Amino acid sequence: MNPKPKMLEWSDFPADFVKWKLDPTGCRLSTEKLGENVYALISSIPGVDNAGFVVGRKGVLVIDAHISIAMAKQIQERVREVTDKPIRYLVNTNYHADHTFGNCAFPAETLVIQQRETAARTLYFEHEREFMLPTVGNDPGIFEGVTYRAPDIVFDDRLVIDLGDEAVELHWFGPANTPGDTIVYVPSAKAAWTGNVTVGSFGLCLESDAPAYLQMISRLVQMLEIEKLVSGHAPVSGREVLGKYLLYFSEVTHEVKKALSTGWSLEDTLKRTRLPEGFRLPASDPRTVFAEGRHSYNVRRTYLSLAGK
Ligand SMILES: [Zn+2]
Repeated sequence: MNPKPKMLEWSDFPADFVKWKLDPTGCRLSTEKLGENVYALISSIPGVDNAGFVVGRKGVLVIDAHISIAMAKQIQERVREVTDKPIRYLVNTNYHADHTFGNCAFPAETLVIQQRETAARTLYFEHEREFMLPTVGNDPGIFEGVTYRAPDIVFDDRLVIDLGDEAVELHWFGPANTPGDTIVYVPSAKAAWTGNVTVGSFGLCLESDAPAYLQMISRLVQMLEIEKLVSGHAPVSGREVLGKYLLYFSEVTHEVKKALSTGWSLEDTLKRTRLPEGFRLPASDPRTVFAEGRHSYNVRRTYLSLAGK
C-alpha cells in the first residue's frame, strides 16, 4: 500500500483564511442544458456545489456526487427527469467531501471513476469528514449515512468514456487546487467541468503553487476547445475566465520569485504582495476578506514551495 498522502489540516491555514460555506441545506439543483445530451446541475445556493450529467445511447455519466446522501439523491432525481437510462459512470473531479461523499448513494452498478491522486485521498474518508465539518456549520447530520465507496476505475492522465453516441473525455493536466483535479470534457458540446480549478475570479492553489497552477491552466487552454465552462462552485461561464487565471497566477509567480531573489522574508512578501490590479474589490465589498485571505494563502504557499520549504 502507498504511504498516506499529506492531508489538509486547518492548522496549516493562515488565520485570515475564510472557510468555505458548503452546507447544502435548502439547495435546489437546476438543470441547464449545454448540448443535445449534456446537462449542468447548478446549485441554488451560491458557492455550494454544482454537478452535471451526460446521456448517451448506452447510459448516463454523472459528474460529481455532492456532499450528502440527500444531494446525491437529488442529482439522480434530476437525471430521471431527462432519461430513464442507467447511470453507468460517476466521475469525481477531486477528492473532497463535497464532490465525493454522495458516491455511496449511487446504484451498485454505477462505476465510480477517479484520478489516481484523488483515489489515494478518498481512502482517508474519516480525516476528510472531520476536516470538512466546519464547512457545513459543524452539523454532523449533513454527513449522516455517508460511507466510503472505493473507485472502480482509476486513471492517470486521460480516459475516454464511450456512452455509445457520445464520448466523454477525462483529463488530468497536473495539480492546481488539489493533486488530482480532473477536467471532464464533452467534445460535442465543447463543455468542460472544472471542479475546484475555477472558482471565483482567481483560484486557490490549495495543494500546489502558482507556477503549477499556471502550467495546469495553460495546458487546459491549449488542449481543449472550451465554449461552456461549468465550475464546481460558480455559475456556467465561457472560457474567458481562464484568461484571468493565467494573468493572476503569472503575476503571483513573478512577484514571489522577485521577493525571493531580493531576499524578503515570508512576512514581508505577504505584506508587500498585494492582490493584483483588476482582482481587487472595493474595501466595502463583503467578498474582500474572502479574496484577500485566498490571495495571501496563494502567496504563502508559492513562497514556501519556491523556497524549497
Ligand atoms: Zn469543491
